Amino acid sequence: NLQSPRDPIEQIECYGARNYNPLPVVLIRGQGVWVEDAEGKQYLDMLSSYSALNHGHRHPKIMAALQEQANRITLTSRAFHNAPLGLFYEKLAELTGKTMILPMNTGAEAVETAIKAARRWACDKKGVPDGNAEIIVCEGNFHGRTLTVTSFSTSPEYKRGFGPFTPGFRVVPFGDIQALEQAITPNTAAFLIEPIQGEAGIRVPPMGFLTEAAELCKRHQVLLMADEIQTGFGRTGKPFACDHEQVVPDVYILGKALGGGVYPISAVAADREVLGVFEPGSHGSTFGGNPLACTCAVAAMEVFWEEALSERSRVLGDYALGRLRTLNSPIVKEVRGRGLFIGIELTEPARPYCERLMTLGLLCKETHETTIRLAPPLTIARRELDWALERIEQVLV
Ligand code: PLP
Repeated sequence: NLQSPRDPIEQIECYGARNYNPLPVVLIRGQGVWVEDAEGKQYLDMLSSYSALNHGHRHPKIMAALQEQANRITLTSRAFHNAPLGLFYEKLAELTGKTMILPMNTGAEAVETAIKAARRWACDKKGVPDGNAEIIVCEGNFHGRTLTVTSFSTSPEYKRGFGPFTPGFRVVPFGDIQALEQAITPNTAAFLIEPIQGEAGIRVPPMGFLTEAAELCKRHQVLLMADEIQTGFGRTGKPFACDHEQVVPDVYILGKALGGGVYPISAVAADREVLGVFEPGSHGSTFGGNPLACTCAVAAMEVFWEEALSERSRVLGDYALGRLRTLNSPIVKEVRGRGLFIGIELTEPARPYCERLMTLGLLCKETHETTIRLAPPLTIARRELDWALERIEQVLV
């Protein structure tokens, strides 16, 4: 209503479904690591939209590419070709070392795509009877919110009342190689894993686990599918979290920062042996591979290399982890992480601490009740990180 402008929070609470519990701040502007509310108060963004903003808010190069493409053509559908799609394929193939790419829009859609690819690959290449393929996943996993992905979640609050669920998934404890070996059957198509679990509270598997899992998968003709949607593009101090063990998964599942935090785009990257199972008509998406998304992704991948985002994340992450681990606080149970992907586990609910940090100009969000997740844009400067750490220390000690 133009005559009586209402408070956005009031509107959102009046009409919106209650599937989120946001902090009470309305952001109207963002640049780099900083965001601003309607009163002009500045906040440092320590969440980066769940790691989608590795490049910071409105990176100038990505914005310029977006604007130029927006003035040409925004949507073609896949009924026709568009030029940015070709460039996007080439750049992502180069970055992942894979020979085929399939673009979608959201992370959950890319996970769905990988599951379809694995099942059909098992059917066509491994001889698993159609309808019998199994996929092994990890306890505590988070791969998105679609119904099939929800089917193999181990969090009761994500599942209650949403059944019946998609069958064909087996759950093993995260980081347990014996359990993984025992779960493999002749019908196993794939092992789907977050190389560091994000939503579960930044859980890092024991060193060596990914290497052993990759060997096990190879021995049993099982695809290793790494969901690097949250961990990819430098977040953990390497281009992909699998790189910490020099593991190359059969399938990369990517999203979030792939679009530079500007435009949604996700993708599955794998070799022809796997993604070649899709023929025309077997899978698709109206907006998948659209020219605006691909243009942003191409610019984002260029910025990723030009600004050495992985390296920045590694150096600044080591520094922040070192400093946080020396915190002498009775309420800090554990500090976990790699690169600028850090979880501070508290002995009590994290929400009130996130609220206090907000009043001090730092935007963080709790995950799984007792963990504060720190994931600033990877473009953050050392002095900005210091500014943030001082406030965190102030609140926790
Ligand atoms: N996979 C992982 C590891 C994630 O962290 C997320 C989102 O947080 C998803 C998948 C789902 O992505 P989206 O919210 O874009 O569907």
